[in-house]
Amino acid sequence: MDFLDQMAKKISTGTNLASKKTDELIASAELKMTISKMENEIEDAIYQLGESMFNSFASNNIMSVNEIQLKCKEIQRMYKGVARLKKNYNSYKGLVGCRACGADVEEGFRYCPSCGNKLY
Ligand SMILES: [Zn+2]
Repeated sequence: MDFLDQMAKKISTGTNLASKKTDELIASAELKMTISKMENEIEDAIYQLGESMFNSFASNNIMSVNEIQLKCKEIQRMYKGVARLKKNYNSYKGLVGCRACGADVEEGFRYCPSCGNKLY
């Protein structure tokens, strides 16, 4: 993903330390915004899939399994994209994603403060 590469560059390059810090902050804020935007898009896509499935039922023109699978695969691809961005963001921020509940936990915690899952 080009966007990801750009983000990685923004985070890792820069000569002046002060402007580098600023660039990093901006890049991390942009990344966070992109993640939540993509999460909203996933939610919309799932809603739309449900709506078209229901409409197809209501209009007696039921969607084929292929059509449904295609849409599900697209949503799955979006999930994977978000997961990749989140991983980047977390490693930049020094956060660890809890495998049980998905909470972002600061590095150094042995247990997740949200759900108590053992992290290490
Ligand atoms: Zn947890």
